Amino acid sequence: MKIICIGRNYKEHAQELGNEIPESPVIFLKPETALLKGRDFYIPEFSKNIHYELEIVIKISKGGKYILKENASKHFEEISLGIDFTARDLQDHLKSKGLPWELSKGFDGAAGVGSFFSKENFNLKALNFSLELSEKTVQKGNTRDMIFSFEEIIAFVSQYFTLKTGDLLFTGTPKGVGKVSERDILKGYIEKEKIIDIKIH
Ligand code: ZN
Repeated sequence: MKIICIGRNYKEHAQELGNEIPESPVIFLKPETALLKGRDFYIPEFSKNIHYELEIVIKISKGGKYILKENASKHFEEISLGIDFTARDLQDHLKSKGLPWELSKGFDGAAGVGSFFSKENFNLKALNFSLELSEKTVQKGNTRDMIFSFEEIIAFVSQYFTLKTGDLLFTGTPKGVGKVSERDILKGYIEKEKIIDIKIH
């Protein structure tokens, strides 16, 4: 299983980090050992600035290579919410040297994932999702603001990586990313439904 993530897929988030709006999707991977499901998150000792990034996650239900955009919706059945935990201090350092981001995004526990639900329950083209940090809403997104749609992401990444059943795609975060601290509780919602709940230590 692999975890494929897209960066800068919401214009206002790209701008808040001072990045350009990308012409093609910005892609990075997290290893399977980054997956955090039904467990608490522990702030790693190598970072003083771990950020949350709330993202819609799609689960590949049918593998493929060179998937066409018009067929891409047949390759996933379920969605969830994920937290793309990012060691922002380390990422900024790596970015400033022009180095890959993996250490800042692929560490153990860096891919929080909630429960999966059939996509049939949702209007994927205009889905509201939001994050509460210790009872305060900090991120609000709507999938209509994505620069690249779910189908475009699948078509794009499958030119490079064969997609397999069970692979997860993190589809980008809206604006409002910020720091987590010990004892915070993150709760993510799609519309009014709570999908993910993570305690920070
Ligand atoms: Zn992200």
